[in-house]
Amino acid sequence: MTTHPRIWETEIDHLSQTRPEEPILYFSPETLAATAHRFQAGFPGLVTYAVKANDNPGVIETLAQAGVTTFDVASPYEIDLVRGLVPGAGLHYNNPVRSKSEIAAGIAAGVLSWSVDGLGELAKLAAQVPKGAEVAVRLALPVKGASYDFGSKFGEGPEGCVELLREVVRLGYTPAMTFHPGTQCTNPAAWRRYIETCADIARQAGVTLARLNVGGGFPADRGTASAQIEEIFAMIAQTVRNAFDTAPALVCEPGRGLVAESCAAMVRVKSVRACGGLFLNDGIYGLLAEIPIMGPYPRIRVIAPDGTPRDGDKTPRVLYGPTCDSLDRLPGEVLLASDVAEDDYLIFDGMGAYSTATNTRFNGYGAHRVVTLRRLNGAMSGHPAHGG
Ligand SMILES: *Cc1c(COP(=O)(O)O)cnc(C)c1O
Repeated sequence: MTTHPRIWETEIDHLSQTRPEEPILYFSPETLAATAHRFQAGFPGLVTYAVKANDNPGVIETLAQAGVTTFDVASPYEIDLVRGLVPGAGLHYNNPVRSKSEIAAGIAAGVLSWSVDGLGELAKLAAQVPKGAEVAVRLALPVKGASYDFGSKFGEGPEGCVELLREVVRLGYTPAMTFHPGTQCTNPAAWRRYIETCADIARQAGVTLARLNVGGGFPADRGTASAQIEEIFAMIAQTVRNAFDTAPALVCEPGRGLVAESCAAMVRVKSVRACGGLFLNDGIYGLLAEIPIMGPYPRIRVIAPDGTPRDGDKTPRVLYGPTCDSLDRLPGEVLLASDVAEDDYLIFDGMGAYSTATNTRFNGYGAHRVVTLRRLNGAMSGHPAHGG
């Protein structure tokens, strides 16, 4: 991003004037700042950003300029990245499993808060982390509502959390709790279950929580009905008021919900096959890596190389990626303009999260450029039916 200082007005200007052969991730700092302000206006506590969703320097710098002062980091690499771009940033190291050298790197960088989900990991922290630091016990519950769940990998059940929380206090740390309801969580009641259980755990442990981190998981617009983030904020505020005698300070650490809308992924049609399937220049090993895990993605516009939207009747199409691997196709069929042609562009709106962050170079594909825009036409529409 910093090596391509030119800022284009819209994605249509860029594609029609340059006709790129390679996949592009269009990034609108303005849209990202607007989403950050929406979180800051609505969330009843500190808004931090989970760097793993999109670690592009422009994303981190834009968030810092929009007033996001604290970042959820999961590795020494992410710590160095954020420190380099935002020297004064607060760091929350919320990957609960760390090697001794990773803990040392976190201490050297001045990490303010650590999560933990087992006595063994807590003992490892205690051997190095100075007393007084915040340690957040991570709860996992079998709660539904997310696209996929992190609970199977991280977190401790309620009983284990009671013991961990007491141990955090005994060791002289500032007690907190945290959870992640699972990514793309469209059900506000998932937060209620988690928050009520955290309050029960703190009560049983006889511990007053200094802070409660309600995770990421805030949903992005995937073209289907979903709770708005404001409904989730209201649920969080109300549940915390009712469940705690002494309400803890709140933190959230969205990745997807903050960054998804700020980027669009653009791929090119390499071939329209006789069977009607489209072969694209990027697929599940590139910017579209998450779609097979999350399910069919309807927010796709078809644009001719001169910048005109295709407007033929919608017909179902199967989309294939460019690699020689038969897994490299998107799930299901998507409805696209029937006049889609070779060399056209497909723009997937709302693709800022887990796209550029996870792409590979498998089979020689997957390279892409980030292009910065003043305005992203498809952003914030909330509707899948944009041109198409
Ligand atoms: C990935 C992650 C997040 C962000 O999750 P989203 O679903 O993208 O909001 C937040 N916190 C932790 C600990 C994570 O691992």
